[in-house]
Amino acid sequence: DLSIASYPSPSVAPARVESKWSDTTPYLAKKKLQSWFQLPDGNWDLVTIIKTSGDESLIKLSEEKVLKVNHGSLIPANPDILDGVDDLMQLSFLNEPSVLYNLQYRYDRDVIYTKAGPVLVALNPFKKVPLYGDEYVEAYRQKKTEGPHVYAIADAAMREMVRDEVNQSIIISGESGAGKTETAKIAMQYLAALGGGSGIENEILKTNPILESFGNAKTSRNDNSSRFGKLIEIHFSETGKISGAKIQTFRFCKQSRVVQCTDGERSYHIFYQLCAGASSSLKEKLNLKSAEEFKYLSQSNCYSISGVDDAEQFRIVEEALNVLHISKDDQESIFAMLAAVLWLGEVSFDVIDNENHVEAVEDEGLVNVASLIGCDIEELKLALSKRKMKVRNDNIVQKLTLSQAIDTRDALAKSIYSCLFDWLVEQINKSLAVGKRHTGRSIGILDIYGFESFERNSFEQFCINYANERLQQHFNRHLFKLEQEEYIQDGIDWTKVDFEDNQDCLNLFEKKPLGLLSLLDEESTFPNATDLTFAIKLKQHLKSNSCFRGDRAKDFTVCHYAGEVTYDTSGFLEKNRDLLHLDSIQLLSSCKCHLPQIFASAMLSLSEKPVVGPLHKSGGADSQKLSVATKFKGQLFQLMQRLENTTPHFIRCIKPNNLQSSGIYDQGLVLQQLRCCGVLEVVRISRSGFPTRMSHHKFARRYGFLLLDHAASQDPLSVSVAILHQFNILPEMYHVGYTKLFFRTGQIGVLEDTRNRT
Ligand code: ATP
Ligand code: MG
Repeated sequence: DLSIASYPSPSVAPARVESKWSDTTPYLAKKKLQSWFQLPDGNWDLVTIIKTSGDESLIKLSEEKVLKVNHGSLIPANPDILDGVDDLMQLSFLNEPSVLYNLQYRYDRDVIYTKAGPVLVALNPFKKVPLYGDEYVEAYRQKKTEGPHVYAIADAAMREMVRDEVNQSIIISGESGAGKTETAKIAMQYLAALGGGSGIENEILKTNPILESFGNAKTSRNDNSSRFGKLIEIHFSETGKISGAKIQTFRFCKQSRVVQCTDGERSYHIFYQLCAGASSSLKEKLNLKSAEEFKYLSQSNCYSISGVDDAEQFRIVEEALNVLHISKDDQESIFAMLAAVLWLGEVSFDVIDNENHVEAVEDEGLVNVASLIGCDIEELKLALSKRKMKVRNDNIVQKLTLSQAIDTRDALAKSIYSCLFDWLVEQINKSLAVGKRHTGRSIGILDIYGFESFERNSFEQFCINYANERLQQHFNRHLFKLEQEEYIQDGIDWTKVDFEDNQDCLNLFEKKPLGLLSLLDEESTFPNATDLTFAIKLKQHLKSNSCFRGDRAKDFTVCHYAGEVTYDTSGFLEKNRDLLHLDSIQLLSSCKCHLPQIFASAMLSLSEKPVVGPLHKSGGADSQKLSVATKFKGQLFQLMQRLENTTPHFIRCIKPNNLQSSGIYDQGLVLQQLRCCGVLEVVRISRSGFPTRMSHHKFARRYGFLLLDHAASQDPLSVSVAILHQFNILPEMYHVGYTKLFFRTGQIGVLEDTRNRT
């Protein structure tokens, strides 16, 4: 029987259809062409239409079953000849199942890169694929191969930097585990190969093992998950050689992983590497034990990563530190700080009165921490057990309860780690510093955390998703908005293509005084505010915003470009305040070792904002600095500004499965990621657009010498038109604007080739 009703509806959202079957069904049915039909498990099946009548078609599934279905449920498939095309722009029928199929077709053959118009889509192979190394670099450098590749993107960035004299950026995005960090390294390797020579390129590459060691950790989604965002700007001299680099990192929450992590996850790699790989003399100096014996590392019951040798990694990190000219003394200080963090976790407390006040025990932990950071044992004990406060003009000392003392201890550990990370990046930047007389150009590579949506979403996801909302706007602006505005400005007859603008969502975050960030900051300054009062405030003020929805109790939902995310405000205020304990800062500044002193002054200089608010009035036990969200927003704006002045190249990394294993292609998961980053829309607009453009002036200057007939007029526009005619460029392949020429993808390549050969 052929009843439609007997077929349950798919669990995955139906395809957003670009080209509907309905009009073409009878014709294609006659030709016995194939189309897509979504099965109950959400996957699409390639079916053949046997017969059509009225609104219905008789189709044959791939498993030979025959079914009667409504035309509406069929989506046209592309002819076999288009299987696995390099660029999704080449698909005759652009729809979700066709895109999914094309990517899968390639993935099954280990071809992990595909173009989606101007965007490179990179599927994580989760295994070694033979696509890299000198041979491939040479092939791309000499343009012997054209296949989509990170190398091709890096190559284009290099060429455009030189040709247009404009800085470039390679913006890599994607979910955790999608392959951003690997992709960034592959791009860096290509640039190093092309612009290398001075040796600085090796230093630049060696920043990767260091930053990964200190900034990455094993999480449930990725064994090597970056817990920070990074922009590395590689600078080139006028001759196209690498002259230096600069790294900017983005973090927005306390390094809580240092003192606490979830089952099955690990703290930062460096701790395990140090414990496993330190020489016996270093171990002795730092009083190191094995990772299992440190409380901070033992809570999550996870010590190793399959396939990774921590001791070997430690040697790699040490070597990298050497290459980057971090002195042996500094290296030892770095390791001492790490050991101090680990030993802080061993400090225990004794209850000393019946009000549950405690005092730090003078145990192995306390003694070791004091000796590692170079402070007085008594002072450390005091800093962890008491809090000095100023009430009106009197100094009073408040004893801490057990939980307050543990918080203070953990906060100190986190601060030391976080300052260490920043200091290390600063040292690396000093080593890579570009000479003062630098006049060349740069290529920035951005590896930033992608959109996150979990069962429970907290302050971290809130910040991450806000950043992604901004980046998405940058993406939209470049690929849709600016492009279309430019056509219209330049007098080209152009039908606008709609795209999803996310300005409303950005407003929800950024509007003053009634936006998410402002309200969060405001509430953070009230000492009596709680996460619940914050949630209530949001609901009060934002309920009319279409991107906002107030939920039960402490929850609220934001409609992000990538989907709805419900946030739980628990911990928002505390994480946003991120108060400094002045006693701890004082302790660090009293240390004999130089790193703790540097950390203390760094922490103090963070309190840029004058101390304000009721906290101060009532005593000012803690110094109030810029809120975490505000600081993050500042960093983000700085980043966007830097990106605005560059020509962007986008790479979208996609995770084909959640198991970190090769060979598994989960259609639903891939589709959800494709939708998040608007891949189909990009292809759609690029297909109808003219992505390459050049001013008449530049075009005439660049290709004018190829003209056979030099009698042609001298004004740039006439020269341009003469060149186009001479090379027989088809009229539908370009548009002549008032100031610029606009070309469809690939057209300028012909001219470039001729120019390079001449
Ligand atoms: P996060 O946001 O958590 O930092 P990410 O997007 O940076 O994630 P990566 O760490 O780059 O993800 O990739 C995760 C893992 O996937 C890598 O450790 C590696 O095993 C594998 N992988 C990614 N890209 C490639 C590739 N091109 N070739 C081989 N393996 C890869
Ligand atoms: Mg990463």
